[in-house]
Amino acid sequence: MSMTATPPSVQATPAPAHSAFEDVNRFVRRASAMLEVADDVVAAIVACEREVVVSLPLRRDDGRIDVLTGYRVQHSQARGPRKGGIRFHQTVDLDDVRALASLMTWKTALIDVPFGGAKGGVAVDPRQLSDREHEELIRRWTRTMVHVLGPHRDIPAPDMGTTARTMGWLMDEFHRLEGFQPACVTGKPIALFGAPGREEATGRGVIQIAAAALRAHHRDAAGVRVVVQGFGNVGKFAIVSAIERGMKVIAVSDVTGAVVAPKGLTAEDVLATSVSELFGRYEQTDPARILEMECDVLIPAALGGVINDENASRIVAPFIIEAANQPIVGNADQHLHARGVTIVPDILANAGGVLGSYFEWTQNIQEFRWPIERFRDELDLRMATAFNNVHETSRRYSCNLREAAFVVSVGRVVESFLMRGQVI
Ligand code: GLU
Repeated sequence: MSMTATPPSVQATPAPAHSAFEDVNRFVRRASAMLEVADDVVAAIVACEREVVVSLPLRRDDGRIDVLTGYRVQHSQARGPRKGGIRFHQTVDLDDVRALASLMTWKTALIDVPFGGAKGGVAVDPRQLSDREHEELIRRWTRTMVHVLGPHRDIPAPDMGTTARTMGWLMDEFHRLEGFQPACVTGKPIALFGAPGREEATGRGVIQIAAAALRAHHRDAAGVRVVVQGFGNVGKFAIVSAIERGMKVIAVSDVTGAVVAPKGLTAEDVLATSVSELFGRYEQTDPARILEMECDVLIPAALGGVINDENASRIVAPFIIEAANQPIVGNADQHLHARGVTIVPDILANAGGVLGSYFEWTQNIQEFRWPIERFRDELDLRMATAFNNVHETSRRYSCNLREAAFVVSVGRVVESFLMRGQVI
């Protein structure tokens, strides 16, 4: 080999063609430039503090052993213990988890809760797991990660492919190893120290923010036509909340298909386990086209990357509320902003989930349970405050809502980081 040849280890790990983590970092750098943050501080707040990658041998029901890859990325503890969900999905990889962990840092700062950011996951299709396999997988993930977890270190929660049930198993495993500490995880079942209101919190927050965005444009929420992509926890509770506010949910899709309902879905429709169960009640449509439907408010509430360079020009909704993390990628963001579309960014739109987690965590620590009315009132109030702050910031800096959201959160993280004296 000649002296100038690239070492084999470098050749073995080519840079990914597209990095979700870099997508987040671009927003962080832009906000840092607007705030005139020094370059060395920017480098420090962009980097992930700790990354744990593990192999998880899982005994399948048929007796085989599958070796899966598990992750926990702790992006920042500048403002408090790291916080973020665990995702079970076949597309999960390290870059993805880094991006999602970083988004948690900016999200928790934006809503001003005393947490940093983290994210975990396992590269596995959750639909291919039996209940027993799912339980064994989260227990093994917990055993392997326990040294970096804890109510004042890093607190997991549900995300795509995991549920309250998963968090109950996680809590039980954590207790076996470390003793009784229900604040070690949030999004738990109500019967196991969960908080009434947490399950609906993300979807409720999405609609609260949608209504605030409409109000900022002097539009009433009642009667607006909403399209929702996604029929999981977030999509379903967003539909329920939208209906409560008099909005009309005219279409919904998931992996099983899509339906259109010109008169609007009903609250009972969300009891269906998948959109395919609604085929008998409503007209079917092409799920690939649902984002391009004429409507007032478009809510992507499924995977990231669904609005991209390929379809951005066909999106006609004047308001997009990012219930999913990173649903808009590439130049689509600039393209849509240039066309005057109001985009409420993920770190604001879906922050109701982690805000609800904060309420659950504080209740667990105080060993005191709030009634659901108090949970809802506090959630609504803090989400409204976060929206107003971002909206005012966008006026002050003459920038869009995403840039404003990052200006608020980056400003807060930088301040805490510098106050700790880690950089002088
Ligand atoms: N997985 C949710 C999110 O992406 C909730 C995280 C949490 O509650 O810690 O925001």
